[in-house]
Amino acid sequence: MRLKTLPSEFQKALPILKKIRKAGYQAYFVGGSVRDALLHRPIHDVDIATDAYPQEIKQIFTRTADIGIEHGTVLVLYQGGEYEITTFRTEDTYVDYRRPSNVSFVRSLSEDLRRRDFTINALALDEDGHVIDEFTGLSDLKQQILRAVGQPNERFKEDALRIMRGFRFAASFNFQIEKATFAAMASCASLLEKISVERSFVEFDKLLLAPYWKHGLEALIVSGAFAYLPGLENKEPELFRLIEDLPDSFVFTSSEQAWAFLLYVLNLADNQHFLRLWKVSNHFQKTVLNLLAVYSLREQNQLDEKMVYQYGRELLLIVENLREAQGLPVAFTQIETLNQKLPIRSKKEMAVNGGVLIKELGFKSGPDLGAVLDAIETAIVTGQLENSKSAIFAYLRSSRSDSSS
Ligand code: ATP
Ligand code: MG
Repeated sequence: MRLKTLPSEFQKALPILKKIRKAGYQAYFVGGSVRDALLHRPIHDVDIATDAYPQEIKQIFTRTADIGIEHGTVLVLYQGGEYEITTFRTEDTYVDYRRPSNVSFVRSLSEDLRRRDFTINALALDEDGHVIDEFTGLSDLKQQILRAVGQPNERFKEDALRIMRGFRFAASFNFQIEKATFAAMASCASLLEKISVERSFVEFDKLLLAPYWKHGLEALIVSGAFAYLPGLENKEPELFRLIEDLPDSFVFTSSEQAWAFLLYVLNLADNQHFLRLWKVSNHFQKTVLNLLAVYSLREQNQLDEKMVYQYGRELLLIVENLREAQGLPVAFTQIETLNQKLPIRSKKEMAVNGGVLIKELGFKSGPDLGAVLDAIETAIVTGQLENSKSAIFAYLRSSRSDSSS
């Protein structure tokens, strides 16, 4: 098969293939970008495979960076674009089902394609637009089938992350997982425990954000593989609720939203513990926990200026979007109105601070001062107190005389 017109991303990178060829080596576009081009999907990274060794690539191009030279990858900067150029390789010995312990460079494209995970990811494209298809990738793309390259059991044992990638690709493209591939994903699932949590997170997160996430998640549940992911053992009924509680057309708008809803259905005693198991950043944790807090406040029908001030408009809208999907009453306009009416957005915008109160009114620093500042903040946010120095001073004088009388 031949692509008559190459997508612009490939056109732009074509001079790189030609340059490598001119130097006497082979060079092809490979991997996800070829798959995405054939699916008429947007292309993100144009990856190039070659029989030239990294040092040889570095001699061909003037601007390069060593980003993974031990795995054979050199980054080439060319006319505003960045391209990963990787030497054809096999990954022969695997330790711990994690990562290849030994990368061997090879001089043949076929061998390089053989080590790739799924047939749709094992396609290559040459500079004339010819598709090199040695593992039924083209027909699998056409029939929307996700199939492991070679012996599925062996491939998942070599690298168990491929199991998660499989569910993720099913979710991205709505492909059916081929029977033997699926059986191997299920039977090798316990090896997921050997994979670093960070790598599993990336794939699970991509799965949840994918357009056909329900399809991918259902496969993950039915295969039993979910049980080997952090904190998800025995959570089959809850995970099914995730699928059932949202309409088929629903797509999560952010990772934080997806993970908050996951936690909502899981209904755990300790949400923070779960997020720590997944080793997410503190910032991510905080956002997810705040989303959950807002979600439960909204379940109790609460909404006021203090909530908008404390959590911020964006967070509330993310929760409202989930409520809308579930057919619950929503308050988008009320949130916007409350937000527009907020006299301040943060403590910093208050007309006084601790320093001013100490200097001008003789307050002492310490917890009492903090409490006074909090009270001022609340009074301003709820519209009881004007945000001006004179109004705040008057308020403090009257509350001082209240307490002394
Ligand atoms: P995405 O669109 O998410 O980038 P991708 O298929 O391009 O998907 P990458 O992680 O960018 O995924 O990897 C590029 C290519 O490298 C894949 O298409 C596949 O051929 C190969 N590959 C990546 N990870 C693995 C793996 N764990 N095992 C085997 N081959 C892999
Ligand atoms: Mg990619």
